[in-house]
Amino acid sequence: MTKRIFRSICIAALVVFFASIALIMDVLYDYFSIVQQSQLKIQTSLAAQGVSNEGIRYFDNLKTDNYRITWISSDGTVLYDSQSDTADMENHLEREEVVEAISTGYGESKRYSETLMERLLYSAQLLEDGTIIRFSTAQNSILTLILGMSQPICIVIAVAVALSIFLAVRLSKRIVKPLNELDLDEPLNNEEYDEIAPLLRRISSQQEQLKRQEAQLQRKQNELDTIIGSMTEGMVLLNQKGKIISINPAAIRLLNISEYCVGEDILTVSRNLDLQNLLVKAMNGNEVEHVIELNGESYQINAGPVVADNAISGVALLLFDVTEKEKAEQMRREFTANVSHELKTPLHSISGYAELLKNGMVKSEDIESFAEKIFIEAQRMVHLVEDIISLSHLDEGANDMKSETVDLYELAKTAVKSLEAEINDAGISIELDGESACLNGIPQLLYGIVYNLCDNAIKYNRENGKALIEVKNEESAVVLSVSDTGIGIAPEHQERIFERFYRVDKSHSKEVGGTGLGLSIVKHAAKIHNAKIELHSIVNGGTTVIIRFPK
Ligand code: ADP
Repeated sequence: MTKRIFRSICIAALVVFFASIALIMDVLYDYFSIVQQSQLKIQTSLAAQGVSNEGIRYFDNLKTDNYRITWISSDGTVLYDSQSDTADMENHLEREEVVEAISTGYGESKRYSETLMERLLYSAQLLEDGTIIRFSTAQNSILTLILGMSQPICIVIAVAVALSIFLAVRLSKRIVKPLNELDLDEPLNNEEYDEIAPLLRRISSQQEQLKRQEAQLQRKQNELDTIIGSMTEGMVLLNQKGKIISINPAAIRLLNISEYCVGEDILTVSRNLDLQNLLVKAMNGNEVEHVIELNGESYQINAGPVVADNAISGVALLLFDVTEKEKAEQMRREFTANVSHELKTPLHSISGYAELLKNGMVKSEDIESFAEKIFIEAQRMVHLVEDIISLSHLDEGANDMKSETVDLYELAKTAVKSLEAEINDAGISIELDGESACLNGIPQLLYGIVYNLCDNAIKYNRENGKALIEVKNEESAVVLSVSDTGIGIAPEHQERIFERFYRVDKSHSKEVGGTGLGLSIVKHAAKIHNAKIELHSIVNGGTTVIIRFPK
């Protein structure tokens, strides 16, 4: 821009300068013509006086370098000419200046000479004897004038050019300086040029718009980051080469990989053939869903192609940790199989005994014992079904049951009373100790806990053994403790006895009427009450189960 302004100023200055020179030369030319003409007139007048006084002798030894002097008689014949032979010269009476001199005493004219190729000035004066003296000289041409003034003109041109360049440099810098110093961060604070005010206003409004858009984008980005970051599902974006472009914290956690994995190939991070097959299908434009095993965990992976401009530009992976779901599914399958198995055995027995009775193959004195066996098996089935119903009820959260204030000591008393027959059959003594202890809970479930623990303390006791039930009211919890002097549980079984249908000694459990579900019911019911279970047991030394209900 500076260069352009500099050039423009230089050109303008030089154009003005040369135009001025041309005009001045024109004016000078006119001025010098007038001066030349008046000098010619003076010369003519002087020559006229000389000729009047001296006649033809006046021309003797006359030096006429730049002038031509012609003496013309009254009839037009040339009497003397300083440059040509008079004999060859034509009559001059018709010449414009001569005609004018004859009529007014003095005449002037300008003519272009084809022969000399220059403009000639003529001046003629009438003498008293009727003759005419005429002077002529070549008028100076503009070129002659310029050549004559070439030295000063060159000096002036040199000075003018230097001055133009100097001024152009200074002016262009001065014009451009405020533009270079524009504060574009605060466009409206620049007041140097009114002409660029609309541009600055436009820049300012566009900057405002950009800031608004940037803030909006940032907000959206933050929202997206928060959503993606707080998702429990893993999300991974891959480019078409399978390199990780974006990964959320859940995916890092689920895949158990480094958080600096962006830019790496997913298969180098997690080498899994199923995952590789899944990616290949997704890269080919298919939406795929599959449960795969990664690092010993089960993941459901949904993979879909990311399409941009009608081309697949990458793959989006969604990971769900379905380990728990798979485990639950597995447990459900095992439970169903166990239930079927548990029901099949008593049903077979009942069906066998009933068949023998039906066919009259049982002696009349044995009918009673057969009926009792059928009754025992049927009772076992009833207990089993009751326990299954309780457990499935607990699995659903027992939401239909209402909480209320319950005295655990009173509940234990009721449980012991209802177990009296079992206590007598087992030949053990049972003791209930402690104090009234109230807590907020679901009475049916709390009763289930006390009943099952007491039932186990009776079932897995020794002959003449003892069972002690204690209810204590501690500062922050109500504590139920059921201990026995029974067969105890080996350490390797202690973790597992709370699993469904897990029994240390299956045949013994069946013998004593166990279903394998009692402690599962206790565990679930305790969980619903946020209670903690402790188990202390020594093989053949007895077992103590302590349950702490927070107040
Ligand atoms: P079950 O109906 O068979 O008693 P539980 O779930 O109540 O089922 O108990 C699971 C297993 O734990 C029992 O089969 C038994 O082997 C063991 N068990 C439970 N309580 C006791 C205890 N007080 N003493 C010894 N073993 C016990």
